Amino acid sequence: MPVGALQTLNRVIWGRCLLKAGSQSCRCDVNWHLRRFHGSPKDDIKSLRAVLNPDISKIRNIGIMAHIDAGKTTTTERMLYYSGYTRALGDVDDGDTVTDFMAQERERGITIQSAAVTFDWKNHRINLIDTPGHVDFTLEVERALRVLDGAIAVFDASAGVEAQTLTVWRQAEKHHIPCVCFLNKMDKPTADLQFSIESIRLKLKANPVVLQFPIGSGKNFTGVVDLLTNQKLTWKPTSTRDDGRTFEVKHLDRSDDPELLQAAKEARAALIEQVADLDDKFAELLLTNYGDNFDGVPANLLQEAVRRVTLARKGVPVLCGSSLKNKGVQPLLDAITAYLPNPNERHHDLVCWYKEDLCALAFKVLHDKQRGPLVFLRIYSGTLKAQTAVHNINRNSTERMSRLLVPFADQHVEIPSMSAGNIALTVGLKQTVTGDTIVSSKASAAAALRRAQNDGGVGKKRGGQADIILSGVEVPDPVFFCTIEPPTMAKQADLEFALNCLQREDPSLKVRVDPDSGQTVLCGMGELHIEVLHDRIRREYGIETQLGPLQVAYRETILQQVSTTDTLDRTVGSRRHAASVNLTVRPVDMASCEVAFTEELQEQISAEIKEAVENGVQSSYLQGPLLGYPMKGVSTLIHSISVEPGTSPAMVSACVSRCMLKALRLAGGQVLEPVMSLEVTLGEEHLSSVLGDLAQRRGTVRDIQTRHDNKVLLATVPLAEMMGYSTVLRTVTSGNATFSMELDAYEAMNPQEQSALLKRMSGLM
Ligand code: GDP
Ligand code: MG
Repeated sequence: MPVGALQTLNRVIWGRCLLKAGSQSCRCDVNWHLRRFHGSPKDDIKSLRAVLNPDISKIRNIGIMAHIDAGKTTTTERMLYYSGYTRALGDVDDGDTVTDFMAQERERGITIQSAAVTFDWKNHRINLIDTPGHVDFTLEVERALRVLDGAIAVFDASAGVEAQTLTVWRQAEKHHIPCVCFLNKMDKPTADLQFSIESIRLKLKANPVVLQFPIGSGKNFTGVVDLLTNQKLTWKPTSTRDDGRTFEVKHLDRSDDPELLQAAKEARAALIEQVADLDDKFAELLLTNYGDNFDGVPANLLQEAVRRVTLARKGVPVLCGSSLKNKGVQPLLDAITAYLPNPNERHHDLVCWYKEDLCALAFKVLHDKQRGPLVFLRIYSGTLKAQTAVHNINRNSTERMSRLLVPFADQHVEIPSMSAGNIALTVGLKQTVTGDTIVSSKASAAAALRRAQNDGGVGKKRGGQADIILSGVEVPDPVFFCTIEPPTMAKQADLEFALNCLQREDPSLKVRVDPDSGQTVLCGMGELHIEVLHDRIRREYGIETQLGPLQVAYRETILQQVSTTDTLDRTVGSRRHAASVNLTVRPVDMASCEVAFTEELQEQISAEIKEAVENGVQSSYLQGPLLGYPMKGVSTLIHSISVEPGTSPAMVSACVSRCMLKALRLAGGQVLEPVMSLEVTLGEEHLSSVLGDLAQRRGTVRDIQTRHDNKVLLATVPLAEMMGYSTVLRTVTSGNATFSMELDAYEAMNPQEQSALLKRMSGLM
């Protein structure tokens, strides 16, 4: 098999990235309206009175996380409506919600981009970051999470904790984000409070602190009992409207159903005991003042204790309701303000180096036809002012911000300045890419770096800049790729421009161009990810593109340790370049690849040669010897390198690369394939056909669980076998199944599969 030819093919795929960040403004539409705050007409939408900077203690930067279809969008819409910022109830099923603003989201009924919306609730400013629920977009979730101070997890109360929520929950845990749980869809006949609470305990390994219980079930779900206050909250349709805006609040008393009273008494006692176990201060108060008489424990003391428990992540408050039926959303809003932290109560590392200077993180870029790129910033310290220049540390560039907006519900309100803790939308930042750190000036960045270095030498250890940049989002390796072609060559520039804009919005999209054929290659996180990008290029940029077949992004590794030597001696013109190297490659149990020098060598060689050697090794990691896929889990040790005077660094790199190729080939190539963990929820009657299908896909079943009338199938399956799975699953189960999957690990492909893959790839030549 012609290995060289295969490498050419793979250079098509993994060739250098030619697209550079552009500075023109893009062409798509963001259908939001701009309103200047001094000129807002007085209508029945809440007048935008509180647009000026609220006190930081009143700010809540909150995300909503949920499995797809749990009701995140519906819940967000209800919040906006009750807070008074939207006139009509948006409905995902009619496709007219505020947050799902992209056309595909409306069609597919899913939330892809995290959009931030701002509204006020009882003297608090709530900035809601809508995080996407689909597994292909976990990077968006990750990015959104780091600008949040707290989160709400929305669950379908008939399904409990589902796969995607588990992923997002783990991410929230990583960032120590306090959470509140909302058990939605209590109106469904299959809704089950106890089951959902258990699944929070078992699957999320969290400690649910149940603050409410439902009154009635299914169609007769009318409201909740608030265990803190001992009140009954009931939503009753009035003759004029059924939007849930008004509800009745009544203290439980003897006129109530004795069973309900008894249940409330027991649940409240259990809550008090649980909170006392988790919070020493509350336990002490309880012992000294109330003894066994829990009836006398005031709601505010209990609430303060629940707040401490939530902030310490010792427990998660659990509320319930039905967003679609307009029940239970106002108490959820109250819970956001009561239990989730304000920006001052969260520790954001690195920000301390900036003191009172501006420090902000760009967490989202959108492109607008008229205004060009719109950048969402989370401000961590200092003040952001309109019409000023700001410095982007990642790009090392200073650019001027023209306007500053607050994304109030479905309109943008222009304001002159904004202070720490807030979320701002800026116009005019053309260089900024999602994940960049924005400060007031280069001098301010330098001052922060000095402070970081003086304080314990953190800055020195990891080398300069990195320590004053708000840690960016780790972009995972793309698992899929395919070629993309414009309809005509004349459209190539437009396509590059569109991809440019999309990459600035979404760093998980990688674009590469083959230097030989000029073919453009998209690399993404999943089928849906690439499909959505394809769609957006058509809709937002008006380019009809052709996608090549979707291919799996494999990795390569080696099987054994090998040492080799190589010498390169070449005369170019009158100059002689000569170098020889001796190195060892060995397989290591690591996701990445590394290069090291022997201690002796480390001291002998110059920085220039060292860099040239490193470049040579790194470039051979980019293309494995087998199929040209990037390598994983290889460690290279350089024993010796000798270089004749006059040899260029490029020749040193070339010598090392050649030696590496030799070593890697001798070390035995192994293809690594992405293996996904899969969760399918389906009716029992379809179980055997789905299992049969999975067996053909080289799937391994890990567990089959029962959830009400459904089965939940947990399995691992190689990604290569999962193309088009949603269509197949739909057909096999007549649409009665849902699934989600995420990357589990890269695993060694078995020898038969690997040789079949090598054959297929050579057949492509
Ligand atoms: P998301 O995917 O989490 O954003 O969920 P959506 O808000 O788009 O809702 C998914 C589906 O569930 C839609 O058909 C909603 O109408 C429905 N839904 C949302 N909330 C409720 C609820 O409280 N009860 C019931 N029965 N259905 C709901
Ligand atoms: Mg949604």
